[in-house]
Amino acid sequence: MQIDKDRVVSFHYRLRDAEGTPLGGTDDHEPVTYLHGYGNLVPGLEAGLPGKQAGEAAAITVLPELGYGPRRDLAAQRVPIKRLLGSKRPRAGDVVAIQADDGTRQATVLKVGKFNVDIDPNHPLAGRTLHFEVTVLDVRDATAEELAHGHAHGPGGHQH
Ligand code: ZN
Repeated sequence: MQIDKDRVVSFHYRLRDAEGTPLGGTDDHEPVTYLHGYGNLVPGLEAGLPGKQAGEAAAITVLPELGYGPRRDLAAQRVPIKRLLGSKRPRAGDVVAIQADDGTRQATVLKVGKFNVDIDPNHPLAGRTLHFEVTVLDVRDATAEELAHGHAHGPGGHQH
């Protein structure tokens, strides 16, 4: 079965920047599982996947405009440490996840105070060209419930 709209896809990936520096991936983690065609991945990555099948690998280059957007000149924001997810003792330079009104988002820590941190509100990958190496593990039809929700359920997808 090929990757196409309304299919649920599981894949492992490795991510590097334009200089070849590793930026993360799913090594030693659960694969990513997503519903194709609903904007659940960055646009450039999702656009490179249709037609691939389980067992296939793909090298996909994503420019900033189709990735996490350009880097914007934004003022630092002050956020209570208690709104950081996971990292309770952040240090300058750390990438952290923040509980925002519209869900969670990632940011880079600039400065750490006693109760607050100053963050750069840009996504850490904003302005960067991304090189994904993707290995497709599984492709299946989405369930009616998944289509209604617009995302995948089960391991690697939404748990609710
Ligand atoms: Zn759901």
